[in-house]
Amino acid sequence: MKLFGTNGIRGKIGEKFTPDFLVNVGMAIGSYVLQGSNVIVGQDTRISGDMVKDAVISGIMSTGVNVIDVGIAPTPAIQFYTKAHGDLGIAITASHNPPEFNGVKVIASDGTELPREEEKKIEEIFLSKKFRIVGWENVGRYHERSDANQGYTNAILKRVNTDLIRKRKFTVVVDCSNGASSLTTPYLLAKLGVRVISLNCQPDGRFPGHNSEPKPENLKDLIEFMRSGNYDLGVAHDGDADRAVFVDETGRFLYGDKTLALVAREVVKEKKGIVVTPVSSSMAVEDVVKKNGGKVVYTKVGAPIVARKMIEVGAVFGGEENGGMIFPEMQYCRDGAMAVAKILEIMARGDMTLSKMVDDLPEYYQMKISVQCPENKKRDVLEKLKEKLKGENINTLDGVKIVHEDYWILIRPSGTEPIYRIYAEAKDEKKLNDAAHKYREILEDIISEFLK
Ligand code: MG
Repeated sequence: MKLFGTNGIRGKIGEKFTPDFLVNVGMAIGSYVLQGSNVIVGQDTRISGDMVKDAVISGIMSTGVNVIDVGIAPTPAIQFYTKAHGDLGIAITASHNPPEFNGVKVIASDGTELPREEEKKIEEIFLSKKFRIVGWENVGRYHERSDANQGYTNAILKRVNTDLIRKRKFTVVVDCSNGASSLTTPYLLAKLGVRVISLNCQPDGRFPGHNSEPKPENLKDLIEFMRSGNYDLGVAHDGDADRAVFVDETGRFLYGDKTLALVAREVVKEKKGIVVTPVSSSMAVEDVVKKNGGKVVYTKVGAPIVARKMIEVGAVFGGEENGGMIFPEMQYCRDGAMAVAKILEIMARGDMTLSKMVDDLPEYYQMKISVQCPENKKRDVLEKLKEKLKGENINTLDGVKIVHEDYWILIRPSGTEPIYRIYAEAKDEKKLNDAAHKYREILEDIISEFLK
């Protein structure tokens, strides 16, 4: 059994997530750190948050480890607090999943998500049940703190040019998806001199406004608002606010790769240096970074991998195409509110509207396709694929990426579902369709060979 998935431990309440299970998770996490350590615990707005948190905390304290409970806070605020005050952190969140889910995400003492090797150690303790149960006199202590959100927003204000932003007197429509950012982003914006119009900014774990994944189909109200009025920027966060997506002043939803390229361009213009992003990111990022005298370093898909690579190479910026952006001057994790402040700074510095800035970015066509493949065949299929594509210009960092002058194709097994994903990007639509079709056939042929 695997305890951790690609985003910590996730499960449905009353199914996988029972009190028994969660107390054991707490005992495993507590046994993983030294006795007497301080673990920071925070949560998003889900209805089950208190139930999950209390069970996990009980398990942790039984191993002689103290808990500092910061209450409802965005995941990056919990990470920031952990870096300052904790030996380990826990975010009780299922990010953008439906309300019946919850999750336990473990954070290292430096504020980054725990790497896979360390998660495995917790998993081993959980499975072997080798818990460190201490006597009554050594049971951990419990403290509540209410300063995590304010400390977090103040830290962001120190890292952007607040005077410049305030002068512009922007009007921003913000949709917090009824999540944890309801307690931070509207207040951060107010401190930046912004006129704030808030949608779904009352914390509510039933997510009555819309599903908490910030996709265009969930953000119809925000988009409609931006179309109908005279506002400078629309912002939406996912449930735990490690991500931010944007809508421009014309009401156009900006896909994550556009924002990523825009921020990468502006950061590199100023600082040069290295930008880190996964192999699945748009060529637009590399185009603008190179053009402005910077360099792109690619990684496997996954925010913690991007963050750790950034530390290793001393990157100036990093991020993913889903609205996850990492600013090293703040912390090495995805940070939704920092992304909002940074976008406003970029808008304040420039002399054009957001839509004009985005129109200046290189334009590419993209496609994503899923192909069914049984879990136990994925490895063989990948080997065969690599062999078959040997003669081409390929990169095997994560799956197989075939790189051509004006298009690329990435074929990689999903980490969570029995499918292969094909990502394709090209400068013209016909080339995109032709290439995606060609490599899809190659993949399907190989999979059907293994199914015979
Ligand atoms: Mg999230």
